[in-house]
Amino acid sequence: SKVPPIILNNGVEMPQLGFGVWQVPDDEAERAVATALEAGYRSIDTAAIYGNEEGTGKALNSSGVAREDLFVTTKLWNADQGYDATLRAFDASLDKLGLDYVDLYLIHWPMPAKALYTDTYKAFEKLHADGRAKSIGVSNFLPEHLERLIDATSVIPAVNQIELHPHLQQHAAREFHAEQGIATEAWSPLGQGKGLLEVPAVVAIAQKHGRTPAQIVLRWHLQLGNVVIPKSVTPSRIEENIDVFGFALDTEDIAAISALNEDRRLGPDPASFNQG
Ligand code: NAD
Repeated sequence: SKVPPIILNNGVEMPQLGFGVWQVPDDEAERAVATALEAGYRSIDTAAIYGNEEGTGKALNSSGVAREDLFVTTKLWNADQGYDATLRAFDASLDKLGLDYVDLYLIHWPMPAKALYTDTYKAFEKLHADGRAKSIGVSNFLPEHLERLIDATSVIPAVNQIELHPHLQQHAAREFHAEQGIATEAWSPLGQGKGLLEVPAVVAIAQKHGRTPAQIVLRWHLQLGNVVIPKSVTPSRIEENIDVFGFALDTEDIAAISALNEDRRLGPDPASFNQG
């Protein structure tokens, strides 16, 4: 495979780079995911709330890629938290995807005000025990939510998928995950393509390596050990974003990008996001 794996805390291999499909309409998802699979992606990141599990599933099932070579992630939406609702929502997701298991199932947001994430995760543990979710984890959990979850449940999350890019480097979260054996997966790894890819320091490093700014930012993540799931519907960019294993940033490049941290979120604050 083009993409080397990381080993999760349960021994499962996860490609370190995958394809994200947020904001890809269902009727475009099939083509985008098919393009990604042709380009060599094997890990696909969707979610119930993205409304494109069907299109994504069609591409997966008609790709000719063996199921065991795919790594499919989906996420439980906020409105479906709670033990029984989670089991029902999982069945609906599998049905839409046309699969009989997912590789990774994530709680999309902690929604601390609802205080349901522990019950929700207990349903995840059942899905995991039944072999229908090969790995289970969370998304947008702050260290305090992870601590509470780990205290109350038995399976340490394999992954926490959080907003992470050079303008929001998440040092405390990454350190906490490393201590707990939780893989850090970066959402919006390119900062949603807004501004970050025009930052002079990034552009200069791109010129130095004869690469694009997107490739430089993805390389920065990979060399830090993050899992990344860049999104694009443009075939040339889909190819460009996976073509990041034939060069390396040096320590100076890494330092220059690491100097761009602003602790600035593009998305909601998980401590107060309780919608859905
Ligand atoms: P991203 O950082 O991957 O940026 C995507 C955008 O960057 C594209 O729409 C395009 O405008 C631009 N872009 C992509 N490749 C480019 C290239 N090579 N050159 C120039 N511009 C390029 O943003 P994202 O889609 O927000 O995040 C990626 C994935 O993360 C999502 O698709 C989704 O799967 C996941 N995600 C998860 C959550 C969560 O709450 N768990 C939230 C947001 C996103």
